[in-house]
This record gives sequence, C-alpha cells and structure tokens, in this order.
Amino acid sequence: MTDNEILKIRECVEKRKVILSDGTKVSALGQGTWYMGENPGKKDEEINSLRLGLDLGMNLIDTAEMYGDGLSEELVSKVIEGRREEAFLVSKVYPHNVGMSSISRACENSLKRLRTDYLDLYLLHWRGRIPFEETIDGMEKLKKEGKILRWGVSNLDIDDMEELYSKSNGDNCDVNEVLYHLGSRGIEYDLLPWQRARNIPTIAYCPLAQAGSLKKDLLRNETLNEIARAHDVKPLQIALAWTIREKDIISIPKASSSKHVIENAKAASIFLSSSELERLDKVFQKPNRRMPLDIV
Ligand code: NDP
Repeated sequence: MTDNEILKIRECVEKRKVILSDGTKVSALGQGTWYMGENPGKKDEEINSLRLGLDLGMNLIDTAEMYGDGLSEELVSKVIEGRREEAFLVSKVYPHNVGMSSISRACENSLKRLRTDYLDLYLLHWRGRIPFEETIDGMEKLKKEGKILRWGVSNLDIDDMEELYSKSNGDNCDVNEVLYHLGSRGIEYDLLPWQRARNIPTIAYCPLAQAGSLKKDLLRNETLNEIARAHDVKPLQIALAWTIREKDIISIPKASSSKHVIENAKAASIFLSSSELERLDKVFQKPNRRMPLDIV
C-alpha cells in the first residue's frame, strides 16, 4: 500500500469522530485486540496490523488485563512504541480488582505491560461484587494521580447504569462498552437512548459479530449482500459502517491481517442512505421490547 493510498483512507477515517465529554475526539473506528499476542507465530502480523490501523487513523486500541492474562497488553506495547501520543489506549480491569486495595496495583500492572505511564481510558470490565462507590473512588484516585485520563464501564445494562449514576461522581463515567452489531440491537430499546440523553458515548464490541459467527446467516442475508454490491464492498464492511452510522458510537473491530484492517478502515467512507437503513431494519429488526444485555 502506498503512502498516498494510506493518506486517502486516513482522511476518511479521521472525518468520523466521536466527541467525549471533555471534548476529546476519538476515531469512530478503533481496534480490538482480544486473543492477540497469544500465538507466538502470529505476533508479528498482529503488531503490523495494529500499526497499520494506527497509520490509517484508527487510533483507539482496546485491550484488557484479562486478554491472554496480559499478553494482549504486552503486544500493544510494541504497537505504540515510539508513537504513544497517536494512540488512544483503553484497558479494562477485572471486577475482582476494583477494590481500593487492588485497583492501583491492577492499573500499575497494565501500565507496565503496556510500557506507558497513562491510559486514556480505564474500564470496569463487567460488574462484580465490589460496590460501585469503591470502584468510583478507585477510578477517581487513579485520575488524580494521572495514571488514567478517564474512566468508564463495560457490559453494564440500564439498571446498573442508573445505579452507577446515582452515586457520588458516578456521572464521571465517560463511556459504556457493550456488544453491538447488526444482528444484536437490543441496546437500541433503552440503554442507548438512556446514554444518549446523558451524552455517554458507546463503544461497540464484536461489531463484526465475530466475522458473522455470532449471528447465523448474517453474511448470507440477501439485503445486506445487495447493499454491499451497490457500494462495491463486502457485507462485513456494510455491517461495520452500520455500527458507526450515528455520531456517538465507537466501533472496535479486531483484525489481525493487513487485508482486514484496510477493509475495516475503508468502512469509514461508507454512508448508508435512509432507504438502505430502512431495508436493513426490515431484516435485522430494531427491538420493540426490553431485551437482556447481550454479551460474549
Ligand atoms: P469482531 O466482531 O471484531 O470480529 C473479529 C473477527 O472478525 C476475527 O475473526 C477477525 O479475523 C475477523 N475480521 C476482522 N476484520 C474482518 C474483515 N474485514 N473481513 C472478514 N473478517 C474480519 O469480534 P471481537 O470479539 O474481536 O470484538 C472486537 C473487540 O471488542 C475485541 O477484540 C475486544 O477488544 C473487544 N471486546 C470487548 C468485550 C468486553 O467485554 N468489553 C467482549 C468482547 C470483545 P482476523 O483476526 O483473522 O482478522
């Protein structure tokens, strides 16, 4: 790929930004890293793919202490070597590590593995038994110490979000990272509107439905394929473009080959028309009732 081609795609990616509560702009297309760093034979390709993703402007990189017991964070350290400022680094803490005595240590360990001295965003991976008050205090302390710039949550449904928000400083939560793809739209019924009313952006995980495997027949769907043909792209690129059709959703596809990274970045230049969105609504229906939060 030539520098000129990279630049052209990057320009499109950089036009699609999500604005966080402090005004920071993050690319609507980021990069996931689950399972990366676990297979020594694949590491170089994974590092090169994530670095290419950064070249293409997909600056948010999502990892977690859980992923490969730190192997994903270690791999990401190689991706951001010499280019820390370009990246918007997100890591996640296990629910059992968010007590006052353990969150500092967990964060310190993530920082060491990532070879950086701060995280752009630190997320509670899912809700556990530790009371929200303690998690919030721990996150706020890390913020004061400059070890994290912001904090948020993941896998929290509306009841949990309401409870979090009712606590002191709970409204400092910057994002909620949840499963969201064309074949799983449950959050559109209540969680997404609730977050929208409070300007809390959503990070959509599994935006490709894990290459279609989370939704039987997604990729074979005729409407999706027709729309893809009309745009001269692949169905998964349409599915990815669909996740970022609104301005407050950051989508984090995981791709471990340059071919996939380029295809995903190109999704930033796909804008679906209202009639295409309506056709997709007919075959991948919006929820008309409350659904339990989908997870993997
Ligand atoms: P995705 O929906 O991102 O799908 C990843 C799969 O799609 C991989 O098999 C990948 O293959 C393939 N793929 C990527 N790009 C393309 C393409 N253009 N064409 C065809 N196939 C493609 O699933 P993930 O589960 O990885 O979710 C994304 C990220 O979200 C995770 O990596 C993680 O960072 C985060 N996450 C967070 C969770 C949470 O609880 N907060 C839970 C789950 C995920 P290949 O690797 O070979 O390119």
